[in-house]
Amino acid sequence: MINTDILVIGAGLAGLTLADHLARQGAHVRLIEKSGTPGGRLSTRQSEWGSFDHGAQYLTSRTPAFTALINRLAQEGNMAVWKPDGKDSARPWWVGQPGMSTIGSVLARGLDVDFGLHARTISRQDGRYVVEAGHGDGIARHYSAGQVVAAIPAPQAHALLAPLDPAFGPLEGVRMAPCWTALLAFDPPLGDQVPDLIRGGAGDILALIARNSSKPGRSGETFVLHAAPGWSRSHLEAAPDMLEAEMLGAMRTQTGLGADLPAPVHVDLHRWRHALVEMPLDRPYIGNADDTLFACGDWCIDARAEAAHQSAHALARHIMSL
Ligand SMILES: Cc1cc2nc3c(=O)[nH]c(=O)nc-3n(C[C@H](O)[C@H](O)[C@H](O)COP(=O)(O)OP(=O)(O)OC[C@H]3O[C@@H](n4cnc5c(N)ncnc54)[C@H](O)[C@@H]3O)c2cc1C
Repeated sequence: MINTDILVIGAGLAGLTLADHLARQGAHVRLIEKSGTPGGRLSTRQSEWGSFDHGAQYLTSRTPAFTALINRLAQEGNMAVWKPDGKDSARPWWVGQPGMSTIGSVLARGLDVDFGLHARTISRQDGRYVVEAGHGDGIARHYSAGQVVAAIPAPQAHALLAPLDPAFGPLEGVRMAPCWTALLAFDPPLGDQVPDLIRGGAGDILALIARNSSKPGRSGETFVLHAAPGWSRSHLEAAPDMLEAEMLGAMRTQTGLGADLPAPVHVDLHRWRHALVEMPLDRPYIGNADDTLFACGDWCIDARAEAAHQSAHALARHIMSL
């Protein structure tokens, strides 16, 4: 049994932000993360043709705390501004350098994170929580904590927490859209015939076509395609092979290149089951009556990474006030 004061489940932006704040205030915090790297949906996949930010494309900031974090990361050389042609907003678009996953890697430094551990059940024993987490090798690890925070997408937090405490029932009302993502590389480069950014319109299969390699510090000729929420939902369980052809066909249509778009030299697909918040909780975080069990994340507030940061901040302040 591993003992800690506060156990945070999920090392995405929300979990890392929360753990960082609590640790700075002297709390004994530990994180468990089911994947092998931190950052969650701020993620980057490598290939021999270049890298792909297959989750969040860029970050914008409206709040002073998030702006301060971005400025710090930028000063350290870990974030830079992306200016794609086709950009449709006056705000700066910030990207991790050399990939979006850098953000999580930097934030995780100095924190106690156990990777490759999937929190499966939580139970209450003698006034403390016992979390059972499964490892890829099939061996379970047990954690004992006075307080537990699920910093994971709402449907997953609901499944984990609602059986334990009815306070988490409202998570059922949070709606998150899936997103099928295609990662494509071309050789030779497509050049000016395709702008760096194309947004899909109503009825289009693709919500976004982004030239990943136009971001600062990237190489090759790489594109990330995000399928629209409705299409992703209706194809959620479809075979990736079938979707590959459909998404490439949509790129042909939406770039206007048709049959002139050459075949990619690299294709990879990724399914985000809980990608973008469609209906948030509309409160900054959620907790139970005795302030021992909590959940936070972007889904509390909005469909943007900054919302994950805001949610974690609000919860950190609350926990430290107890
Ligand atoms: C395709 C896509 C495009 C996006 N585009 C943008 C954009 O352009 N701009 C923007 O601002 N935002 C964008 N977002 C949203 C942004 O990525 C999120 O708002 C933000 O990253 C959410 O952070 P989080 O910490 O709340 O959740 P997550 O990043 O989902 O972190 C949750 C973490 O918990 C882990 N986890 C889950 N369950 C368990 C468990 N049982 N045990 C252990 N670990 C667990 C997960 O592996 C993950 O690492 C996009 C997201 C996607 C998927």
